[in-house]
Amino acid sequence: MQNFEFQNPTKLLFGKGQISSLKKEIPAYGKRILLVYGGGSIKKIGLYDKVINELKEIGAFVIELGGVEPNPRLTTVQRGINLIRENQLDFILAVGGGSVIDGAKAIAAGVPYDGDVWDIVTSKVSAPSNSVPIGTVITIAGTGSEMNGNSVITNWETNTKAFFNSNHVLPRFSVLDPELTISVPRDQTVYGSVDIMSHVFEQYFHGSSNAPLQERIGEAILRTVIETAPKLVNDLNNYEYREIMLLNGTLALNGLTAMGVSPDWSTHLIEHAVSAVHDIPHGGGIAIIAPHWMEHVAAVRPEKIAQLGVRVFDLDPTGKTDAQLAAEAIQSLKNFWESIGAPTKLSDYGIDDKEIELMTERSMLADQIGSYVPLSKEDVRNILRNSL
Ligand code: NAP
Ligand code: FE
Repeated sequence: MQNFEFQNPTKLLFGKGQISSLKKEIPAYGKRILLVYGGGSIKKIGLYDKVINELKEIGAFVIELGGVEPNPRLTTVQRGINLIRENQLDFILAVGGGSVIDGAKAIAAGVPYDGDVWDIVTSKVSAPSNSVPIGTVITIAGTGSEMNGNSVITNWETNTKAFFNSNHVLPRFSVLDPELTISVPRDQTVYGSVDIMSHVFEQYFHGSSNAPLQERIGEAILRTVIETAPKLVNDLNNYEYREIMLLNGTLALNGLTAMGVSPDWSTHLIEHAVSAVHDIPHGGGIAIIAPHWMEHVAAVRPEKIAQLGVRVFDLDPTGKTDAQLAAEAIQSLKNFWESIGAPTKLSDYGIDDKEIELMTERSMLADQIGSYVPLSKEDVRNILRNSL
């Protein structure tokens, strides 16, 4: 293991009716609030009214930033920063999915920074320690944004999707009521399940040694998703399944399985490049790219994929090489994702080879990406081609 520091102070308020915690939690941070939400799902499910009632009860002054896009945009973040500055707001309440929460984090970090917030998003400068405090109400299981310091933002002027990570934008509290996720449609439920699994993969295929506990925790999350997602997609109103998936999503990316290892975020980097050029759902892009990343990696280091096959997909290792097991593991993963209705190729989204070069370019944060198996530009181009 590598040396590590771990601090995750996000307070989780989990379960039915936890929305009523807002009036207890918010006043500690102030009563001038920016309420951030997405394209309207929170109004359809009656959550908007509940939040407004909570805020009324504490006599809050509320400015709204609605319409945060799936794959939140830099321009929206800049609008949020202006609203906080103009109205001297002191707290951000983000109500929605990962996109809304990620947008809120970039706003929080951008407010006290004199320069362009894109500098923070691209990690040119660190998020300031006096970033505006955030609380969240998560409405979709997947990103883990409700308990991590990550924010992914898209700049459409340059077709770049970049991310930053900072403890200064970790939510102070997050309300996780599984009931609020029951309205998530089937396709988004599938994308969330894929995203959760991929967060585990990116940390499981790490560039470090001696992390058996972190790997076992990851395997437990994967097995739980594999057990639950097929039941959930056929029974979307089931509270118990929603409950399990919501906690899975939070624990998959809250730092727990990344302790002491250097994760390999190649699949995410490639997907971010795809969705910065073609605005496709993050989890959909991941479902397409991850198996092709694995196929590439299996040719170099099959052993961890073989381990995944045996421990997560219950493959029988008797008489098989790591390479054979890895091939079977990848097939098992493809079969599983296909069985729950995930997309399998970029052409499912109408993407052809026209922009392969741009997507390759945008994937490469450095000359090489990845820690389990470093990828060159040529490798990334091949993975994208195989994903078409
Ligand atoms: P999302 O983009 O926040 O939401 C996807 C869609 O689901 C939206 O159309 C949204 O509608 C709808 N939705 C959300 N909750 C709903 C509900 N309860 N009922 C009905 N519809 C609902 O999805 P996400 O997967 O959570 O976030 C994806 C973004 O997070 C991507 O930009 C991705 O790159 C990023 N990401 C972040 C992290 C991280 O660690 N921070 C990790 C992985 C990915 P409305 O807009 O109407 O609400
Ligand atoms: Fe993700």
